[in-house]
Amino acid sequence: MSEILKEVLKHISTKSDISYTGFEGANIVLYTKNTDFFLDNGGVIKKIVDDIKKRVELRPDPSVCMEMEKAEEEIKKLIPSEAGVGEITFDPQRSMVIIEAEKPGLAIGKSGEVLKEIKQKTFWVPLVKRKPAIRSKLIENIRKVLYENNDYRRKFLDNIGKRIYDGWIRDKKHEWVRVTVLGAGRQVGRSCFLLQTPESRILLDCGIDVAGTNSNAYPFLDAPEFKIEELDAIILTHSHLDHCGLVPYLYKMGYKGPLYCTLPTRDISALLSLDMISVSQKEANKSIYSSADIREMVKHTVTLDYEEVADITPDIRLTFYNAGHTLGSAMAHLHIGNGLHNLLYCGDMNFEVSNLLGSAVTRFPRLETFMIESTYGGKDDTPPSRKECEDELVKKIKETIEKKGKVLMPVLGVGRSQEIMLILEKSIRSKVLPNIPIYVQGMVWDVTAIHTTYPDFFNNTVKKAIFHKDQNPFLSKVFKHVGSQKEMQEVLEGGPCVILATSGMMVAGASIEYFKALAENSKNSLILTCYQGPGSLGRRLESGEKVIKFSEKETINVKMEVNTIHGFSGHSSRTQLMNFVKRLDPKPKKGIIIHGESSKCLDLASSIHKQLRIETSAPKNLESIRIR
Ligand code: ZN
Repeated sequence: MSEILKEVLKHISTKSDISYTGFEGANIVLYTKNTDFFLDNGGVIKKIVDDIKKRVELRPDPSVCMEMEKAEEEIKKLIPSEAGVGEITFDPQRSMVIIEAEKPGLAIGKSGEVLKEIKQKTFWVPLVKRKPAIRSKLIENIRKVLYENNDYRRKFLDNIGKRIYDGWIRDKKHEWVRVTVLGAGRQVGRSCFLLQTPESRILLDCGIDVAGTNSNAYPFLDAPEFKIEELDAIILTHSHLDHCGLVPYLYKMGYKGPLYCTLPTRDISALLSLDMISVSQKEANKSIYSSADIREMVKHTVTLDYEEVADITPDIRLTFYNAGHTLGSAMAHLHIGNGLHNLLYCGDMNFEVSNLLGSAVTRFPRLETFMIESTYGGKDDTPPSRKECEDELVKKIKETIEKKGKVLMPVLGVGRSQEIMLILEKSIRSKVLPNIPIYVQGMVWDVTAIHTTYPDFFNNTVKKAIFHKDQNPFLSKVFKHVGSQKEMQEVLEGGPCVILATSGMMVAGASIEYFKALAENSKNSLILTCYQGPGSLGRRLESGEKVIKFSEKETINVKMEVNTIHGFSGHSSRTQLMNFVKRLDPKPKKGIIIHGESSKCLDLASSIHKQLRIETSAPKNLESIRIR
């Protein structure tokens, strides 16, 4: 048995009848057959927590839990009906019951009263979750994968704990910390970094360059430093494919360790990876991994909340902080070697409050080195303000509606589309825009459903509206889901409206179909808000092409108005990047500039060095930097 578990048991009398002691990742769990001790441990557990500074959870042994059917009846009796209880799911191996409720506060009760009663009556540990406002098939599937693999996960999480607490295999005397750039060095796309200490090997993100060709789309996993069998953990900052796209492939190649991310990142990454497979199937390309590999990824995910501290190896402690970039996006703070060094990997981040999310965090307990993106880090990257862009968008929509036309907005599934939905909802509610329907096509709707599952990740304004005023902007009647071909036809035959459809660059998906149907009518308009890659249909329209030939028989004469509005990006502008670094508290000693075209990386690196007196570098792919 692990030393730390022996230490824990020393505090507990044998009368407590502890039947099992083990780990759930970095947390310690105890199971007891003594129901009195389960209900009231007399402060014993708190004392242990104070002593060893780790999370310790006490649960009833499964043998003493009430029969599930009876417990469900009991739970339904105890929770007031106004709480709107939905599904009740039992996790018998962990003696836990997950209760979905429309109003979690009422299900929990004042200072947890209702939960206490459930415990007393049923000897189950209740956990209340908010019932998603829009059902998501994907989230249901993910939960199913997790429940079906309960047995496996119990052993898997126990092994993570053993590695964390008993690991420390390598030499402690020679301490160093080193980062190797496997992707996103002086480029946007394929983010991937290897963090090494004498004890640990951690991968920070593992993405695909979506615009890249086969030979340069993937990170340098053939670098001599990287050995998949030595990898301790993967940390995933957010769900965009250029950060998460290759993670399932690592599981295909035999990695069986943990993937750390937030809940929304887990779900949206799975959705986007599945979508990537189906897109390549449609284009008759072979995908490099299958849905079975995505299932393996989900099976090995360990989710953390923002600001929840977790040991992930013997010498590395991870904390996620809000990055403001997309739902659930995080900056990873790594406390290394018991205070030897503190590294902040920012991932993609936005240092401003958007309609949807709060701004990236700048205060940390300790900080020596930061790694920051420079997508818009060049001197000239000063886009118009969000307010100016919003006004422009509303003005263009208004003009089209007045002409009795339709507005087509090709969007990315994640992030910007929800940001735009909030702007449109706000404008219609405040009567700046007339009450027209907003049609939300396919994938955008699926991702929006995931958004409504995790309202805790929104900014304070949206949270307040949902929690205190019962106003969820995503549930507004102005949004209409378009799922079938028939519904799409009805949209095209109907009156003035706004249509949100993927893909953002109009390279695939419904946005092309809508375009073909709407382009030849001058009353309609197209509004592009995403980056348009060279060669994409979006870029061709943006640069003024008026005749688009799809095939020998199909030529479209573009008569609709084409507009581009930049500035809804989830990334920081140059000024925001500089302000973010300036505000970092405590002031770091070293900055590593990544995730930007070469000139932008170098430009930002030199400005931070000159203006803020911080040592900086802009490494290329395959370069390693010793940060301590
Ligand atoms: Zn991103």
